[in-house]
Amino acid sequence: MAESSSAAPEIEERSLPFFEAAERGVLALQRCQTCGTFLAPVRSRCSSCGGTRIAWAEASGSGRVWSHGRLQRSFLPEHEGKLPLTLVWVELDERVRFASRLAASERAPVRTGDRVSVVFERLADGTPVPVFRRAD
Ligand SMILES: [Zn+2]
Repeated sequence: MAESSSAAPEIEERSLPFFEAAERGVLALQRCQTCGTFLAPVRSRCSSCGGTRIAWAEASGSGRVWSHGRLQRSFLPEHEGKLPLTLVWVELDERVRFASRLAASERAPVRTGDRVSVVFERLADGTPVPVFRRAD
């Protein structure tokens, strides 16, 4: 892969299905084909049964805030002009925790247990990144 000076997450070959789904506004997660457990982040072995038959599956993109925190300072160019941001761990309806942040447009405080759903923001280079907004 060519070197890049942008803050885009490095798109490894094994993460390509994730970004292809993101282009369609869909959150894709790995899923163990042996026991059905959804997995995040990307891994080569199931965290539940140890199985290695893993495929990509579309997730609902909905869940609840499991934990959250404020990001006041950042050296990442992708955060420029967006601080402070709210970092969130979302417990997705697929029963897997996903580390992300609230959408830049979400200014009201979020609480643990709040329902959220995924939306995609684009980095300067166009890479879609999954973030969350409050679901009504
Ligand atoms: Zn498994």
